[in-house]
Amino acid sequence: MRGNLRRGCDDMKFCNFHWDELRGQVISKGMGGLIVEDSNIPLALVLPEVLVGAVYDPLMAAQWSIVGMALETGGFYLLSTRPGDGGEYCPLCEVEDAGVREGKAGLSLAWMEGCTDAILVHCREQGLLPRPQ
Ligand SMILES: [Zn+2]
Repeated sequence: MRGNLRRGCDDMKFCNFHWDELRGQVISKGMGGLIVEDSNIPLALVLPEVLVGAVYDPLMAAQWSIVGMALETGGFYLLSTRPGDGGEYCPLCEVEDAGVREGKAGLSLAWMEGCTDAILVHCREQGLLPRPQ
């Protein structure tokens, strides 16, 4: 249950590679202490707070932002099951594949970088993290 809540939205789910990469970027940019999943508070207790914006989780924010951008640029097929194996689409694998088809490898990493950079700015502006001196 916990994993389902964390890793996808309905029929879209981040693959292990992209989830670990996104999580790693959030942590390497100094936001690891804000990840609800890593706190000792049960997710069921804190999720309502996250949903109303009373608690800000940079990893969830990054996930939802990427899902939103993928739907906007890729389309709603991402919410369907994959033909063949019936699995769920990873939005970042789809972004990467689309980039490679246009000769641009590394697009998924660029999306994660841009997204986590923006979230870092937001965290600083909101006083959740100290501003750089
Ligand atoms: Zn993926």
